[in-house]
Amino acid sequence: MAERLQKVMAHDGIASRRKSEKIIQSGRVKVNGKTITTLGTKVNPHKDEIEVDDVPLDKEEPVYFLFYKPRQVISSVSDNKNRKTVVDFFSDVSERIYPVGRLDYDTSGVLLLTNDGDFDNLLTHPRYEVSKTYVARVKGVLSNDDFKKLRTGVIVNGNKTTVDHSKLVQINSKTDTSIINVTLHEGKNHEVKNIFKAIDHPVTKLKRISYGFLTLHKLRAGQWRPLKKFEVDKLK
Ligand code: URA
Repeated sequence: MAERLQKVMAHDGIASRRKSEKIIQSGRVKVNGKTITTLGTKVNPHKDEIEVDDVPLDKEEPVYFLFYKPRQVISSVSDNKNRKTVVDFFSDVSERIYPVGRLDYDTSGVLLLTNDGDFDNLLTHPRYEVSKTYVARVKGVLSNDDFKKLRTGVIVNGNKTTVDHSKLVQINSKTDTSIINVTLHEGKNHEVKNIFKAIDHPVTKLKRISYGFLTLHKLRAGQWRPLKKFEVDKLK
């Protein structure tokens, strides 16, 4: 992910952002061998070779985490409404990580975070078909016809959308809700909620329980673990 050069320098402990700007303007900074004096310049701290007075900045090693995102947490690195963000849970991690895709504010479950832009691009590309399984609590009880619609396709924002697998887990007649497990490989925003809304069974609670072969296993909400090398390799 590209970031402003002065921000990267400040993060690396070169100087404050303001002072880093002055250093850039005075022609002391090179990016990939080229002197940069423009302040808007964006760099990839993970890939670009940045030098101050011909001394290279440390490049960040790529890091990968599996996080159990709790509800009421925003899937971004900052929030203009001052809500808690997923990176607030990673205060011990010095690398500039960000979430791979997103889960809604009120959705919990598996979320990957990384500082590796290629990994992020790969996993969020529409052609990358990793299956994601969700447990959805929805209003009402789905009929056989509803399940058929999920299989054959419902129209979401003008596009026919299907799920790979759906299964009724439980019916709660007192609250008139059902629990459905649903697996799909698309990653569009609000996809699961939109699918159930389209068949008139709006989602009232949503949790992602798996991302490909990765599950929450023993993690509790708010906890994370680094991905193992073989897990990263398998996802790529
Ligand atoms: N689909 C949704 O509707 N919300 C999420 O957070 C994830 C998938």
